[in-house]
Amino acid sequence: MKLLLIEDEPKLNRVLTLGLIGERMTVESCFDGDSGLAMALADEYDVIICDRMLPGSIDGIQVCQQIRRANITTPILFLTAKDAVADRVAGLDAGADDYMVKPFSFEELLARIRALLRRNSAAKNPILSVADLTLDPATFVVQRANTPIKLSQTEYALLEYFMRNTGRILTKDTLISHVWDFDADILPNTVEAYVGYLRNKIDKPFATPLLHTVRGFGYKLGIEH
Ligand code: CA
Repeated sequence: MKLLLIEDEPKLNRVLTLGLIGERMTVESCFDGDSGLAMALADEYDVIICDRMLPGSIDGIQVCQQIRRANITTPILFLTAKDAVADRVAGLDAGADDYMVKPFSFEELLARIRALLRRNSAAKNPILSVADLTLDPATFVVQRANTPIKLSQTEYALLEYFMRNTGRILTKDTLISHVWDFDADILPNTVEAYVGYLRNKIDKPFATPLLHTVRGFGYKLGIEH
């Protein structure tokens, strides 16, 4: 996990950087708005922590605005001074996802970072579902009728591809090119075998089969009507 910290107070910058590194995060920090924006645009971060009042030609609000204008959706946690309600509102309006009022506890900062990461991951990776079968790309948990199902890596990749293409007929060639590495020498028989393994786990123990063979074409995941 990589964080960008934009905070001009040397002591706070140092304490936060060391604290976050202590939590096994990678932290890149800077002390002014221009560097902060340049770093946010040049690199990919999981969370950006940005102070409101910053030296340089742009302040924290402008940093947020410009990050959003560049279509970067990284969660931003905004730091503001005590009682500056207008600053908090301006920060959120500028595209920040949350704010913290100084002085704050390090524990609360960590909790808010975790909450932002969870929200971001849920938004990027919504849980996929077909009937009572679910797959969570964020946690790799597969369940049917609320029963967890253990899959191998290949079975999981195959199921995820089926679930992202529910109702579509997928040929063996399509499956080979999307599920297996491009340089792997995969034969149609291998696909058949893996579809079989998958059926044993997601269909066989349950009343309604979801993975169907479309004779002469390939396979389809969905509810048969
Ligand atoms: Ca400041």
